Amino acid sequence: MQTAQQINKELDKLSSKREILKQQLDIIRANRTFKCVACGKRHKIKDCEVIQTHWYVEPSGCTDGGYWNESDLQILCPTSPVRNRVYFPSPIGLQYEFTYLYKHLFKKVIDEYENGTPLDREYEFINNEYFENNAKRFELSCPKFKREY
Ligand SMILES: [Zn+2]
Repeated sequence: MQTAQQINKELDKLSSKREILKQQLDIIRANRTFKCVACGKRHKIKDCEVIQTHWYVEPSGCTDGGYWNESDLQILCPTSPVRNRVYFPSPIGLQYEFTYLYKHLFKKVIDEYENGTPLDREYEFINNEYFENNAKRFELSCPKFKREY
């Protein structure tokens, strides 16, 4: 039987091991490539900037609404003004899962709100279904995403 002190020491070791493994996963994920709908080439996640779009929920009643929700991610092609909208027609869980696993791995995250954009240039987006078609490769699995690390 281990003492409480030994068990605490073991738990500390496990949590630092866990951190190391998570960092390794992030490196693998950041180096994943996708096929760009704008230029037809492949880009690494870590080499691209991504727009986090938001939509506004109008106030209703006394306490509801009046806030912004996160919507889809749109990846900027490094060589073209066309955006890759990370598109999952359904289920919505895949979009949450992708955002959770990958958003922090892009070169830069730019927040954009529906009525007013931080970018001065005109743009258009194209739905990029590569992520949906390669969901397994991106470790996207849960129709109702709920993953704990
Ligand atoms: Zn491109």
